[in-house]
Amino acid sequence: MDVIATTAEQDSTESRFAEKVTPYLRDLMESSEAIREMYQLNPELENLEADTSVDLLNEKTSTPVFGTVKKYEGQLLALLSYTCVSNCRYCERQDRVGVGLDSAGRLTKEKIDNIIDYVAGDETIYEVIASGGDPLTNPKGLRYLFEELSKLEHVKVLRIHTRFPLQNPDKVDLKLMADLSQLREAVYFSLHIDHPDELTPKAIKLIAELKAMGYIMITQTVFLKGINDSVETLKDLFLKLFELGVRPYYIYHGQEVTSTRRFVMDLDDEVNIMTDLRNQLSGLAFPQHVIDIPGASGKVVVPSNHWSYDSGSVSDFKGKRVTTSDWNEIAQGKGH
Ligand SMILES: *Cc1c(COP(=O)(O)O)cnc(C)c1O
Ligand code: SF4
Repeated sequence: MDVIATTAEQDSTESRFAEKVTPYLRDLMESSEAIREMYQLNPELENLEADTSVDLLNEKTSTPVFGTVKKYEGQLLALLSYTCVSNCRYCERQDRVGVGLDSAGRLTKEKIDNIIDYVAGDETIYEVIASGGDPLTNPKGLRYLFEELSKLEHVKVLRIHTRFPLQNPDKVDLKLMADLSQLREAVYFSLHIDHPDELTPKAIKLIAELKAMGYIMITQTVFLKGINDSVETLKDLFLKLFELGVRPYYIYHGQEVTSTRRFVMDLDDEVNIMTDLRNQLSGLAFPQHVIDIPGASGKVVVPSNHWSYDSGSVSDFKGKRVTTSDWNEIAQGKGH
């Protein structure tokens, strides 16, 4: 296949969403079709030249200070880096990931200082979430941000959203991780994981190490057609995580951005799977099914088939009513 190959070490500044896969994942791709689907660029199915300017989740209009998204009361998301060690074909931030902030796609110290000043000036912020891209690709920035924030009394909880441990487990900086875990009573470590094949012996060992440091381990998953769109696969994933002491937290409805269309499932199919799963799993192994409503505000819990409900429209956190046809239009770039 004619693909663009970049090495894992190279900083991706292409405007196209390049194929970028660590040697560790390359090995896994040989034995796992799911991992191949996640990372292998498919030029026939991906329209990489399409318009990437659609602000599907209103993130660019919710930026109080450069490098942040603030949509919820009390919480601030800090996008520490727009680089990842590998590029997932279904990435919803592919308009920004790999495109680059500065040349390395990482927030500079000056920009992080602005974020720290902003948080210092807003005592309603009790939680700061380091996200990206992948915040672990900016280890110095992550250490600086969290150490400075830990000096602010009103910031009670720190959280890291990452996929790095599943993409390059040998390169996770354990000293950094151990230090950050001590900054608060509750430091949450949220692992983005979509398939049981990602739980290799190396990943499992790393999860145990992170747990031993004191992190509260949670996960986020995205529904992906052709990868995890079955009761069996998700049951396997959530039970394995549960056994490892990792709490499945969210499963998202996949969103349609330019080249992710082939992965997006019908919301009704997702609801059927979740309804089936509910009586097969411990409540502790069962994540919340949520949708980040396109063109609206908030991650809203999707109801199960245990209820009769109107699946044609939903209210966001601010009471704004959105129909499913509205969000399909927004996803196709016709909205706003
Ligand atoms: C997802 C998200 C959060 C965290 O939401 P939780 O429901 O607490 O996991 C915070 N801020 C922004 C902008 C987000 O998109
Ligand atoms: S790790 Fe997350 S941000 Fe990075 S490419 Fe994958 S989905 Fe996108």
